[in-house]
Amino acid sequence: MIRTIALIPPPFNYRDNDFMSKPTNSRRVFILRLACGTSALAATQAFAADPVSTERLTETDAYAKSMGFRVDTTKVDKARYPRHTVEQKCSTCQLYSGAPGAEDGPCSFFGGRWVDKDGWCRNFKIKKAA
Ligand code: SF4
Repeated sequence: MIRTIALIPPPFNYRDNDFMSKPTNSRRVFILRLACGTSALAATQAFAADPVSTERLTETDAYAKSMGFRVDTTKVDKARYPRHTVEQKCSTCQLYSGAPGAEDGPCSFFGGRWVDKDGWCRNFKIKKAA
């Protein structure tokens, strides 16, 4: 990287203060800038192509446990979560983005990890009508 930077002249000469009279349009500069641009584009695409997580959230996960997560909403501890109802489930939660009718899908609250459509946690937020 240091070598690449050394090969590319600055856009103007700071010392001579004559930046208007020193053209920087040489073939070498063009090729180096093209190479830098291509590298930056390749790096961007590598990040964009990062596969989406399909890791499943489990009830034994420490954070899921602290959030009262259950795979089946009917198994939620009523004494601990008195405001919970069986109508509250992942498929009706704002943070769930599974396809309509799918058995499971990603939950943005748990970093995109997949949850069962009938799951529940204490961060449940009712999906707003579209
Ligand atoms: S935040 Fe919503 S979708 Fe995610 S586990 Fe909790 S209830 Fe399910």
